[in-house]
Amino acid sequence: MRDEMNTQTDGLLIVDEDACEQLVGRQQAFDAVQDVFAAMARGDARNFPVVREALGHADAIYGFKSGFDRSGQVLGVKSGGYWPGNSQKGLTNHQSTVVLFDPDTGRITALVGGNYMTAVRTAASSAISIAHLARPDAQILGMVGAGHQSTFQLRAAAEQREFEKVVAWNPHPEMLPRLAEVAEDLGLEFEATTPEGLGAQADVIITITSAFEPLLKKDWVKPGTHLACMGTDTKGKMEVDPALVAAATLFTDEVAQSISIGEAQHAALKGEISQDAITPIGAVINGDHIGRSNDAEITLFDGTGVGLQDLAVASVAAQLAKNTGLANKVTL
Ligand code: NAD
Repeated sequence: MRDEMNTQTDGLLIVDEDACEQLVGRQQAFDAVQDVFAAMARGDARNFPVVREALGHADAIYGFKSGFDRSGQVLGVKSGGYWPGNSQKGLTNHQSTVVLFDPDTGRITALVGGNYMTAVRTAASSAISIAHLARPDAQILGMVGAGHQSTFQLRAAAEQREFEKVVAWNPHPEMLPRLAEVAEDLGLEFEATTPEGLGAQADVIITITSAFEPLLKKDWVKPGTHLACMGTDTKGKMEVDPALVAAATLFTDEVAQSISIGEAQHAALKGEISQDAITPIGAVINGDHIGRSNDAEITLFDGTGVGLQDLAVASVAAQLAKNTGLANKVTL
């Protein structure tokens, strides 16, 4: 994506939230995230240690996710966090901004809104896992979770297989209509069900909640199911039974995060899995790992969320904004 954008004369591009929504669709996010997962598995891209701190102000959690993709020549940082009081001010609780730098000189090249982009890059991540790991004949999509991210997840997942039906469950059932609306928009049958009912029907399951306890038990999930566990991105969070994690063939965006802050942290802590049992999804994308090996295998993608995903989609937004004139430009 990078061309001569990062030269001194180009100045600083500012790509706001509206421009990001106009410029970066699901396919562009899928392609950008898939490329960077592949680069990570080849050793061409790496994430730097994450900083995440309680501010001691406004109950906020604030941090940085940074990294460098040598193959895509993308360097930058996503900065932001969670301000729980924002909704009362008419703002999104999660707030973030991506800053991109010229890897040759360190000069700032772009400021890109990170809120919409976080949702599309996270949805791209689970969609990539479905594309590579779900059974080709998967027909029923299970959704656990009905918050802000869930509709992005549903739309991206629906494009990966010929799904006929969505089965959904959420700890707060009053939130489910938003998923029903999206399913209807996609022409898919929709059924609100129990966690057991969801597991009994679904061929693919996405979990995208803020849970701290298992919502799905091992015995409720059918052989051959693919799970994309996307909600667990912090120490202590948990969406599925650690026994289900231990029984599945495991894939992730980044192994170090999977065992420390991802869904695999609990099974790893109990000694039920070792980190060698977890394959970076990039290895499957690169053809270095077979992925699913049979129709009865349960595959589980632990989507922890890495900074390089944010930088990848932000780089696409900056490039498209430059090409289309949809960015504000500041001369430095
Ligand atoms: P949201 O606040 O809009 O929705 C929260 C969801 O979790 C809802 O379905 C809600 O019913 C459920 N929930 C809330 N408290 C719960 C509890 N105690 N137990 C079980 N379920 C509970 O949040 P969102 O923006 O949709 O994000 C959902 C999750 O995804 C969060 O945990 C967030 O941190 C995570 N996330 C992960 C990534 C990633 O890259 N992996 C990216 C963005 C968000």
